[in-house]
Parts: sequence; C-alpha cells; structure tokens
Amino acid sequence: MFDKVLIANRGEIALRIHRACREMGIQTVAVHSTADSDAMHVRLADESVCIGPPPARDSYLNIPSILSAATIAGVDAIHPGYGFLSENARFAEAVEAHGFTFIGPTAEHIRMMGDKIVAKQTAQELGLPLVPGSPGPVGSLGEVVELGEKIGWPVLIKAVAGGGGRGMKVVNSPDEAAEAFSLARAEAKAAFSNDSVYLEKYLGAPRHIEIQVLGDGRGEGVHLGERDCSLQRRHQKVLEEAPSPALNAEQRAKIGELAAAAVRKLKYRGAGTMEFLFQDGEFYFIEMNTRLQVEHPITEAVTGIDLVREQIRIAAGGPLALSQKDIQFHGHAIECRVNAENPETFTPSPGKVIDYHPPGGLGVRVDSGLYAGYSIPPFYDSMVAKLIVSGPSRNECLMRLRRSLEEFVIGGIETTIPLHQKIIQQQEFIDGEYNIHWLEKLVGLKK
Ligand code: ADP
Repeated sequence: MFDKVLIANRGEIALRIHRACREMGIQTVAVHSTADSDAMHVRLADESVCIGPPPARDSYLNIPSILSAATIAGVDAIHPGYGFLSENARFAEAVEAHGFTFIGPTAEHIRMMGDKIVAKQTAQELGLPLVPGSPGPVGSLGEVVELGEKIGWPVLIKAVAGGGGRGMKVVNSPDEAAEAFSLARAEAKAAFSNDSVYLEKYLGAPRHIEIQVLGDGRGEGVHLGERDCSLQRRHQKVLEEAPSPALNAEQRAKIGELAAAAVRKLKYRGAGTMEFLFQDGEFYFIEMNTRLQVEHPITEAVTGIDLVREQIRIAAGGPLALSQKDIQFHGHAIECRVNAENPETFTPSPGKVIDYHPPGGLGVRVDSGLYAGYSIPPFYDSMVAKLIVSGPSRNECLMRLRRSLEEFVIGGIETTIPLHQKIIQQQEFIDGEYNIHWLEKLVGLKK
C-alpha cells in the first residue's frame, strides 16, 4: 500500500480523497494555487505545496508543477480527483513516467473514452446500445443535412472532444443546420482546441442514467448500480438520485450487467461511469467517464462502499475486494449540488462566507471545504458543497432532504439552496416523473 499520496485537486473532492487516505493510514500532500492558501484541503493535509498563481492553467492544470511537488514531497501516487487533469491521458502517462502511480485507469483507456467517436465505436464492439448517429466526425453541412434526413429531425451536433455540455447544438430542421454546425464547431474549437463534431439523433424526453463500475485492470469488473442524473441545467447536473425512480428491477439488472460485462472485456482499471440516455424502455450509451464522478456519494450511500478507498486499493495492485453478489443495495440517496450562485439568474456569487452551519443527523452527509470566514475565490467552479441525504425509502429521503435544506446556513454569499428547495416541492419531482428537460422548464430556460 502507498505511504503518501498527492491530491492533484482542490475543494470538496480534495477533502474527500484526503479523508479516504487518512482512514487507510496514508499521508496526504495537498497542492494549491496562491488563491487557495487558506483552503480547507490545504489545512487538513499532512503537507502542502503551492504550485502556481490563481488561474487553473498555471496551477491545477500545470503538469510540471504538480510533478515537481510530487518529487519534492516524495509521494508514491497521485489522485487526480475529477475535472482538471483527471481525464488527461498525457498527465496519466507523465505521472507513471516519473515513477509515481496514477490512481485511475490506463492512459490508453482515458484516451479511448476521451474521443467520443472512438468511445462509441468501442461501446458498440462491447455490445452496448448506441444512440443512432454518424459513425464518425461530420465534415460538412451537406453531411449534417443528409444524415438528418436519414435518421429524422431533430438531431444533436456534439463535439468529439466534448465535456461539460459544450459544443452541443440541437438542429430541428434542415434550415437550422448551417448556423448550428458553425456554432458547434466554433464552441468546440474554443473549449477543446478541436473543432471536430459528430451527429446523434436528439432524443425528445430521455432520462440520464449512469452506471458506476469498478475494474481491476485484469478482467474482473463489477457494477454498483445506477444514478439518475436527469436534473440538469445547460447539460450540467444539479441533483442526482439512486436508485432511479424510472427503472424497474429487470431494466436495472440488464443495464448493470451490460456495463459490468463491458468493463471485464475492456480490462478496465479503477472506477468509471458509463452514461446512458433512457427513453421508452431503451438505453442508449452516450459516453464513459474514466474518473470518479461528483455524484459518487449517492452510490456510496446505497451500497456502503467507499469508492475512493476502492480506487486506491486497485491502484496499489490489489484484487477487487468485492464480487457482484457482495454488492447489495439499501434504501435511497439524493445529492444536491450547492453552487455559489444566484438561485434564479445563476450569476456566480464568490466572496466571504460569514456564517456556516451544515445540516447533520442520521443519513446526512455534507462534502464541502467551506467554513465561516473563508473567502470563495472567483477563479474556479462555483460548486461549494454537496448535500447527500439517504434513507430507507425515497419518501423518507425526500423528507430528510427538506429538513436538511432548511437547516443549511451559508451566510454572506448567494447559493442555489433555494433552487433545491423549489425542486423538491414540485409534484412531478415528488412523483419521480422528470426527464433531462424538466429542470430547464422549471427555471424558465425552456418552454
Ligand atoms: P458532455 O460530455 O459534454 O457532458 P454528454 O454526451 O455526456 O456530453 O451529454 C450531456 C447531456 O446532454 C446528457 O446528460 C443529456 O442531457 C444531453 N444529451 C446528450 N446526448 C443527447 C441526445 N442524443 N439526445 C438528447 N439529449 C442528449
């Protein structure tokens, strides 16, 4: 097992990884930008190294700085968290080339799944169902129109290098194709320095269902059930729950087994997530994320399995500690992502936190680096806390969530807590009847 791990991230996920390490008797090294000297992840770690100025490209994305910090601190392994360098195959390679263990999958698998077209081709070979669409990148407006006529409008143009919903444009009819095609390419170019795009049939009212998987890299693999992440704004998840209120036992078993079989065939190593859209009883693979996800705690809540601990064990060369029959599901869990934003306009609201009182009690978990007196820097993602609530049934979980949101005090800044309070009051949400467009209708982004 490792003696010392460097955590190449910040905020709540850096804390999350630190906690797993501490419980395994592993020392931690935090890295931070000059804007994060007072951050909780720096305070809690055994050691910390400043790796650069506030902009992420100069610090949390600065590979040479992070590797120097790892060398100076003498660590055995590096955990990338999510975001930043977590899905950067060059980083995974550089980490290994410097003699450290990368706590994640192989660079080859990261690269494969980072290219959405290669990912879809691989998924097809692995026997996963796909959304109908272009077999490769679309290079001209003519191709968009031709394929649209073939698979039927509307279609969705997506970035091959996509992530975070950027470079995605819906095309309702041939007249909209020219503008959408050039906008999607421009957005993809700006976000990923790669303007390659592909086409998918646009599903009208799907749910986003994803399967958590773990593999040992040698052909063993299991699934840890699904998460329903259909509550999204601008293709970004806002609230997630497990299990999905939309699946029956047969559908659940089928998609879980398909995902686990794919992991075994791939000889995938570590934690990953296979994302699907689900509509009219059918699943359609959209992508695989080769990292820990923001919403992993709801899976932990319903399975009792510490996913970060498993990632570290697997990276250290251990066999999978769990077989599929060891993984049992209990009750229900919901996560709310709390952002430092105005809950109606979604304008970022960084600044000083005056009061901080997180909710507590049975079945309540708060993952956050906030504390009273902390100043949220304006340079990074606006998510500042995750509230995860679990209970024996969905109904009890909803009541507990209502109570926890009432208790949660984050003074001095604006947060999306009122948005979550609004969501959980809606009858359709209470009934579990929502799809990926539901939240945008609620907040007035869509009719
Ligand atoms: P990204 O990697 O940018 O997050 P994804 O492929 O994971 O992109 O898609 C993000 C979200 O966009 C999905 O959760 C879903 O809400 C929506 N989406 C993606 N593909 C489709 C599709 N073919 N039809 C309808 N909605 C889609």
